[in-house]
Amino acid sequence: MTQVTEHGGGVWSIKVPIPDNPLGHTLVHVLDTGRGPVLIDTGWDDPEAWDTLVAGLTAIGVGINGIHGVVITHHHPDHHGLSGQVRESSGAWVAMHAADTEIVRRTRQSEPGTWLAYLAAKLTAVGAPEDHIAPLRTARATGRMRTLPGLRAALPDREIVPGELLDLAGRRLRAVWTPGHTPGHVCLHLEEDHPANLPGRGRLFSGDHLLPGISPHIGLYEDPDDATATDPLGDYLDSLERIGRLGVAEVLPAHQHAFPDAARRVQELLDHHEERLTGLLALLATPLTPWQLAERMEWNRPWEQIPHGSRNIAVSEAEAHVRRLVKLGRAEAMTGSDPVMYIAV
Ligand SMILES: [Zn+2]
Ligand SMILES: [Zn+2]
Repeated sequence: MTQVTEHGGGVWSIKVPIPDNPLGHTLVHVLDTGRGPVLIDTGWDDPEAWDTLVAGLTAIGVGINGIHGVVITHHHPDHHGLSGQVRESSGAWVAMHAADTEIVRRTRQSEPGTWLAYLAAKLTAVGAPEDHIAPLRTARATGRMRTLPGLRAALPDREIVPGELLDLAGRRLRAVWTPGHTPGHVCLHLEEDHPANLPGRGRLFSGDHLLPGISPHIGLYEDPDDATATDPLGDYLDSLERIGRLGVAEVLPAHQHAFPDAARRVQELLDHHEERLTGLLALLATPLTPWQLAERMEWNRPWEQIPHGSRNIAVSEAEAHVRRLVKLGRAEAMTGSDPVMYIAV
């Protein structure tokens, strides 16, 4: 029973475990509507997660076959993993922002080999050493690799349109587009009085965009078919400010726990990224490749202890910060450098 929390006003959360992951669990939210309960996110595609979700629903008097719809904050497997199984069991619709639906479509169609080739080329371009790239080439050549998560992810059948109210009987739930963590991340603003009369404007289902104790990963959007120099960190910081201005009474995030005072947390995260950008600028007093920059940045453990796959994520995060500095005119790529090197201006 401890996995279910009642938040009042027809809202519950269920702690759905994520296997082998330090995050621990996804908070799947249940929103009662006039046409049946709607889920916000579903959890990781795993038997234990499924059983926990079903048991949690049972505890609040809902059968899995009674789910009316599924609203997904973003395409990551700890949020969207069980959506297909929920839809099969209930006939529920599944809604997602178009930009993330595009990623689901692309991932389902992609061949692992194409992704490995893209990754190897990209890592070469940012200055990764040969001993880091070689295993990717070997995996591609031998056709041996782990299955990519997301190959079986459900294709959504409804689109979440930013700024609009979702079509939910008896509830006011408005989609707020918050790109950054993913290009199609959305927060959902429940524009109703807080059930315990906390001051502010309603409640916010914040997905991974705004978490009480974690700064979400902001990397590049990594689309092998799109060479546009996107600025995910810039998107994220803009999205944070947009959320801060909503003045919500309480945030219901997809990990950790609910919390009040969104504006304070937004400011902490803005400060955190500003500090990080300033630190990077100091490092870029001498020209560095994104890889060298990642090696010198502060992570939750020393670079030598960061495993192979996590180094790819780290270098993607380093690149996202460099992109931001370039967009701000505070750093630039050195002409003719290959792999590319950046320097503060
Ligand atoms: Zn995520
Ligand atoms: Zn997540």
